[in-house]
Amino acid sequence: LERTFSIIKPDATERNLTGAINAVIEKAGLRIVAQKRIRMTREQAETFYAVHRERPFFGELVDFMVSGPVVVQVLEGEGAIAKYREVMGATNPANAAEGTIRKLFAKSVGENSVHGSDAPETAAVEIAQFFAGNEIV
Ligand code: ATP
Ligand code: MG
Repeated sequence: LERTFSIIKPDATERNLTGAINAVIEKAGLRIVAQKRIRMTREQAETFYAVHRERPFFGELVDFMVSGPVVVQVLEGEGAIAKYREVMGATNPANAAEGTIRKLFAKSVGENSVHGSDAPETAAVEIAQFFAGNEIV
């Protein structure tokens, strides 16, 4: 079974949406095999989003990710990476399909409630940044 890395972002934890988002995840057939609520450090956020370092929104993105608690997760299932991106919906909630997490809950293109890995290589790197192997069950 494939694994993907997920973050429930500060805009969602702030509005007490962790359970509602987990319900959408589980209803889609993905299993939450690791989960913890943390306050990301600025260094962790900068490392996590290093591929976006040159983008104009990088500073805003890092400020947002450290602005409140996040829930980091590992999700497991058949085709978990693609399935979770489908469940999340488009980056900009204005373009997200009905029933997706971002359509249901996101506030804006920046404060868009969730992150999901975009490929097997990035999933492996992202999972390893936040979880030890024995924390994933
Ligand atoms: P994520 O990587 O969080 O799953 P994504 O892959 O759909 O989202 P990316 O293009 O990788 O989108 O951008 C990473 C994150 O950066 C977005 O989820 C969003 O929080 C933020 N972001 C992207 N575009 C913008 C923008 N134009 N303005 C502000 N923030 C943005
Ligand atoms: Mg991305």
